[in-house]
Amino acid sequence: MDIAKKITLLFAILSAVIISLLSGFVWYFSNEFAFEDFYKRLEARVNIAAQIKLYEDDNNSVVAQMRNQYLERLPSEQEFILDASQTENKVDRELPKSFYDKINTGSMARYRVENHFYAGKFFRNGPKGYIVIVSANDPFGFRELRDLQKILIIGFFLSVFLSFVVGWRFSNYMLMPLRNVIKSVKKIKAENLHMRLDVKKGTDEMSQLAQTFNNMLNRLETAFETQNNFISNASHELRTPLTIISGEVELALKNGDAQKQHLALAKIKDEAERLEHILTSLLGLAQSGFNGKNQPWELVRMDELLWEIKASVNQVHPESKIEIDFSKLPDDDELLSLKINKNLIKLALTNIVSNACKYSNDKLVNIAIETSANSLSIAVTDQGIGIPQTDIQHIFEPFYRASNTNSFKGYGIGLPLSLNIIRLHRGSIAIKSQEGIGTEIKVLLPLTSIY
Ligand code: ADP
Repeated sequence: MDIAKKITLLFAILSAVIISLLSGFVWYFSNEFAFEDFYKRLEARVNIAAQIKLYEDDNNSVVAQMRNQYLERLPSEQEFILDASQTENKVDRELPKSFYDKINTGSMARYRVENHFYAGKFFRNGPKGYIVIVSANDPFGFRELRDLQKILIIGFFLSVFLSFVVGWRFSNYMLMPLRNVIKSVKKIKAENLHMRLDVKKGTDEMSQLAQTFNNMLNRLETAFETQNNFISNASHELRTPLTIISGEVELALKNGDAQKQHLALAKIKDEAERLEHILTSLLGLAQSGFNGKNQPWELVRMDELLWEIKASVNQVHPESKIEIDFSKLPDDDELLSLKINKNLIKLALTNIVSNACKYSNDKLVNIAIETSANSLSIAVTDQGIGIPQTDIQHIFEPFYRASNTNSFKGYGIGLPLSLNIIRLHRGSIAIKSQEGIGTEIKVLLPLTSIY
């Protein structure tokens, strides 16, 4: 059953329950109080009848006259004066025992059969006891109650029908935006990933849903593009050394000169090494995407790790000048120990620091370490060539190199690898750069590890 039908049904059932409760309430109280007035009139007649019939008094004839003159006769009104000591009392119909029991307690008793009403009371006259009962019809009150019953039943069906119609229209109206979203999403395929949903102004759930879909499509589109770029870049990067190698081999085969053959072999060796480097980096990139559960995680003091990183970068770039700024370190040493995969984090940070040395032609590189309430940050700042604004958003894509790096050796795999490793540790990387001035790459790692 679709949602619109479910809402309509629920709406109708709820209204039916509420309306029947309300009708029951109205019916119960009308039934209780509709005849109260009529019973009062009957009870007055019981007292007057007892006065006239039971007590010999000077006023009796006056009371009887007043009663005949001013007290209207009720429809089918009858009076019964019964001897209380007699067990066989004769009234126009069998009255229940509870009615007589009430009379015997001395209070006024009431009884009703359809629209015929009875009121009765016990009176004592000297040694004898009497029961006075007056009965009559109340056609008006009874008719009113019947009318009310009809109105309530018709009202019930009418309101259930109305709530069904209103519920149906309402649910269709409310679900219209959702149907539009489904219709639009169905149209989006791999070939037209650029399509987006219409987002209506406002902050309701439907706008949020459309916005969330659009954000997801943005991410999907970027992932698709990155993947396409990755494949074309990777094949280009791998094909170039292979083309050079086969060219050199052909040249060496044609040429018998030993010196030229030697040169060709040296070139082939270079290109083979380049291929190996690219393939090793690619393997690292692929492996860093694993969830990390099978890799060793240990508590590492980050300040000590930074010294190790400085030493290993100095080995590769002997000219590099790296200073580590510990001025913002916390007093509590424990905040410096993080549970990490040491080899991977070392690889990620070494990539960032050696980039800073490489792209600044070995100008001073600063590494600042700082802790906050729930994370530890390592900021690597250089005074190098910077990254052009248009390139910044792409530098984490595999094989992407900024337009100002032609004179620097590199493959564009280091940063994506670092990002994967940091993400594996639930951390993030922020980047600030200005072309010609310098770059700051900040790595944030959470203090509490998930492993
Ligand atoms: P590469 O092997 O080209 O250095 P990376 O993946 O390490 O590859 O870096 C990707 C690109 O990011 C680089 O080609 C460069 O354009 C840019 N980049 C990274 N770090 C810096 C930096 N410190 N200064 C300037 N550009 C940088």
